[in-house]
Amino acid sequence: MDLVQKIFDAGVVGAGGAGFPTHIKAKSKVEFVLVNGAECEPLIHKDFELMKNFAPEIVKAVGLMTKETSAKKSYFGIKAKNGAAIEAVEKNYSNGKIETCLLGDFYPSGDEYELVYAATKRLIPPYGLPLDVGCVVNNVETFYNISRAVEDKPVTQKFVCVTGSVKNPSSFFVPIGTSLKELLDHAGGATVSEYGVFVSGILMGKLTSDLSEVVTKTTAGIIVLPADHYLVNRTKRPIEDKKRIGKSACDQCSYCTEFCPRYLLGYDVQPHKVMRSLGFTTTGSAVWNQYADLCCSCGLCSLYSCPEDLYPREACDQGKIENKKLGTRYEQQKPVKVHPIKEGRRVPLKQLMKRIDVLKYDAHTPFVKKSPDVSQVKIMLKQHIGAAAKPVVKLGDSVVEGTLIADVEEGKLGAKIHASISGRVTHVSDEFIKIAK
Ligand code: SF4
Ligand code: SF4
Repeated sequence: MDLVQKIFDAGVVGAGGAGFPTHIKAKSKVEFVLVNGAECEPLIHKDFELMKNFAPEIVKAVGLMTKETSAKKSYFGIKAKNGAAIEAVEKNYSNGKIETCLLGDFYPSGDEYELVYAATKRLIPPYGLPLDVGCVVNNVETFYNISRAVEDKPVTQKFVCVTGSVKNPSSFFVPIGTSLKELLDHAGGATVSEYGVFVSGILMGKLTSDLSEVVTKTTAGIIVLPADHYLVNRTKRPIEDKKRIGKSACDQCSYCTEFCPRYLLGYDVQPHKVMRSLGFTTTGSAVWNQYADLCCSCGLCSLYSCPEDLYPREACDQGKIENKKLGTRYEQQKPVKVHPIKEGRRVPLKQLMKRIDVLKYDAHTPFVKKSPDVSQVKIMLKQHIGAAAKPVVKLGDSVVEGTLIADVEEGKLGAKIHASISGRVTHVSDEFIKIAK
C-alpha cells in the first residue's frame, strides 16, 4: 500500500487547526511521530470524545505513520486528567513502539513547540518545524482521517464540538461545508436570545455573528456565549480602540512576557516590548515589532497575564503583519534555552477559565452518532495551507459523497477536496463550490 498516495488522494490535512497537507509529513523520515491529543482550548472536548470512541482507528493510523516515516518511536500526547481516553488508546497499543506522554492540564500544552519539548526534550529552532528536530506531529483527528484514507475514504466530514450556552452540548460529525447555524440547531439551539459565537476556540479561534459561515477541514466547533459576556464584548472591540487603550494604559509591567509560553521555552518573544510599538505611530515601531515574530498567537497574554486587560496578543499579531510587509525577520541571537522558571509559571486551564469567566460553561460534550441532515453545503476551496484547490466539476453536475470536486494544481502545495454530500452542484467559483441535495 502506498500510504502517502492514499493520504494525498483522500485530501487529509492537519485537522487540529493548521491545515498542513498531511501527505507531505508522511513523506518525511523522522525519529519520532507525535500524536497531539492535548486539546487545551477551554470548553472544547471533541478530541477527548474522538479518542474515547475511535481509539482503534487512531492508534492503527499512528502505527502506519510510524512505519512510513521510519520513526523509532511514537508518543501519544494526552492530558493525564483524561483517564477514559487514555484507557481507550492504551488498550490498542500493540507493540513497544508507542508510548503515552502524559501532559498536565495547562494552557497551551497542545502547541507543537510545547508538545515536542514535553515528549522529546527537544527544542524546535526559531521559525522551524518539528521536522527540524526529527519529529512529525499530527492531531488525533488527522490520524482518524488517515485510517479512513487507507480504506479509500476521503475527508468529507468534520468532527466538531458545540458547547457553551446551548441546550445540548455535544460532539458529532458533520459534512464539510455545513453552516454554523445547522451546527447550533443540531445541539438544540442557544439558551440565550442574544449571543456571540467563537469558532474553533476562545483563545485561538475567532468571534463571529455570521452563522452562514461554514465548517472546514480544520473547524474544531463552536462555543456560544451570551452577547453581554465579557469575552464577547472585549473581542468585538474595534482594533483601533484596542490599540488606543493599549497605548495609554500599558504600564510596561511585563507580566505578558513573564507568562508567555514561547518566552518561557526560550524564544525571544517579548509582548511588553511589542506594546511599545503602539506609541510609535509614525516611525520607530519596527524596532519593537520584531519581538512579535516568534509569537504563536496563543492569546494567553491578552486573556490571562495582563492585569490591565489589554491586548498584547493583538499587538503581536499586528506586529507580525508589519514585519512581513517590511520583509524583516528577527534573528534570535541567544541560543534557545528553557527558562529555569518555566514549570512554575505554567497556567492551569481551570485558572484560565476562571479568569475569563467561562468555568460555568464547562460541560461534558458527549459523542452523538446522528449527524445534522443538511440540504446543502458550501465547500471552501482553501481549507489548508498552500494554494486553493481548482474546481474539477461544473454547474449542474451530479456528485456523490466522496466525488473529487477540486484538485491540487500541478507542482503546488495543497489538498484535494471532495463532495461531502450527494447532490447537484449549484455554484462553482474560485472560492467555493455549493452542492444541494
Ligand atoms: S501585561 Fe499588560 S500592562 Fe503589563 S506590559 Fe503587558 S500589556 Fe502592558
Ligand atoms: S500570544 Fe502572547 S503569550 Fe502567546 S505566544 Fe504570543 S506573545 Fe506569547
